[in-house]
Amino acid sequence: MARVTIVGGGYGGIAVAKALDEVAEVTLIEQKDRFVNHAAALRATVDPEWAEKIFIPYDNLLKNGRVIHGTVLKTNGTSVSVSGMDEEIEADHLVLATGTAYPFPAKHLESSAAIAKARIERAYNNLKQSGRVLIVGGGAVGIELAGEITSYFPEIEITLLESGPDILTSGDYKPELRESIRKQLQERGVKIMVGDSLSYLPPVDVGVLSPFRVMTQGGTQIKADMWFRAYGSSAATGYLGRDYAEVRHYDGTIRVDDHLRVLDHPCVWAIGDITDVRESKRADAARAHAEVVAANIAAMIRGEEPNAIYAPGKEWVVLPLGPNGGASQILKDGVRVVVGPEETVRLKGEDLFVDYARTHLGVED
Ligand SMILES: Cc1cc2nc3c(=O)[nH]c(=O)nc-3n(C[C@H](O)[C@H](O)[C@H](O)COP(=O)(O)OP(=O)(O)OC[C@H]3O[C@@H](n4cnc5c(N)ncnc54)[C@H](O)[C@@H]3O)c2cc1C
Repeated sequence: MARVTIVGGGYGGIAVAKALDEVAEVTLIEQKDRFVNHAAALRATVDPEWAEKIFIPYDNLLKNGRVIHGTVLKTNGTSVSVSGMDEEIEADHLVLATGTAYPFPAKHLESSAAIAKARIERAYNNLKQSGRVLIVGGGAVGIELAGEITSYFPEIEITLLESGPDILTSGDYKPELRESIRKQLQERGVKIMVGDSLSYLPPVDVGVLSPFRVMTQGGTQIKADMWFRAYGSSAATGYLGRDYAEVRHYDGTIRVDDHLRVLDHPCVWAIGDITDVRESKRADAARAHAEVVAANIAAMIRGEEPNAIYAPGKEWVVLPLGPNGGASQILKDGVRVVVGPEETVRLKGEDLFVDYARTHLGVED
């Protein structure tokens, strides 16, 4: 049987592993001991019940293949070296699915769910005692975080600081989306400052309760008890050696062809946030990449040409502001439309994809 190694068990990695489980000898290597449903990570910071729900075991993901918990330190063709293992793991196909790193609380660096939960709990207890919170970054994560905090701690005063000319400038979004989000946040008392940035970082770590004051480049003083950094994602591809220098961009993303094969690296594929596909980084895109790569690898195993191609669709985004608010830009009959809180709650705000993740990982209630 053909051997397939997948590095990274996030949204993309688990999808490709499951799709190939019957036709190949699958090895999924993931540094974390639990799958993390990042879509709900911000709510986990404000609601302890959710802090339990976002960590899901990998035990039932594969029927035939294996999941190894370790960090891939190096690749060598389609073989990988894994922390704590003496021998390289060899394979016929290698799928890179290591995603992006993002500051806490959107993502966690900890490989142990128990330690990650302890950090979330500490941030939650700090929020309970906090009167003013600074969020730096007015993109999707900063906005969602402001929405979660105002939903669960309405008495906290939030300042949302964005260096760009407006909130949500990174995607191809309609002005009505920004207007709806801005209006809802302002109704909740969030102070939105755009076109300005910090002169220096606050002297405390994110999520830690310790009152401070900082100056912005524009000369405004901001006082807060806690702050969060909602910017600065980076593709987690540092384990790729010099032979990837030509196909790796400055931001760490990897060049792939239409089949999602890494350029100049036969039988190495990349999916999800680490690819240089021109689209916003989304879990549903990672899953769609996984389908294409699984189809291509399965075709090659059968001795056929890998014909599946990935083409990005129109941009969409779902932005809950806690369990009852938000706005989204979705596609209706191929046309981009902006919808308000009710539809946003239905699409994501209520469940934050927990059911999907649990079902995919074979976890019964
Ligand atoms: C707060 C938040 C909310 C979001 N909401 C949405 C949403 O509503 N809808 C949506 O579509 N997208 C959403 N996203 C984006 C989505 O989470 C990402 O696009 C998605 O996680 C990308 O999937 P991936 O498989 O590429 O990477 P990831 O899901 O990040 O998985 C990568 C995995 O690789 C592992 N890994 C990394 N390096 C190594 C290594 N060297 N060895 C072993 N394992 C390694 C990591 O531990 C991780 O588990 C959200 C993101 C955040 C942060």
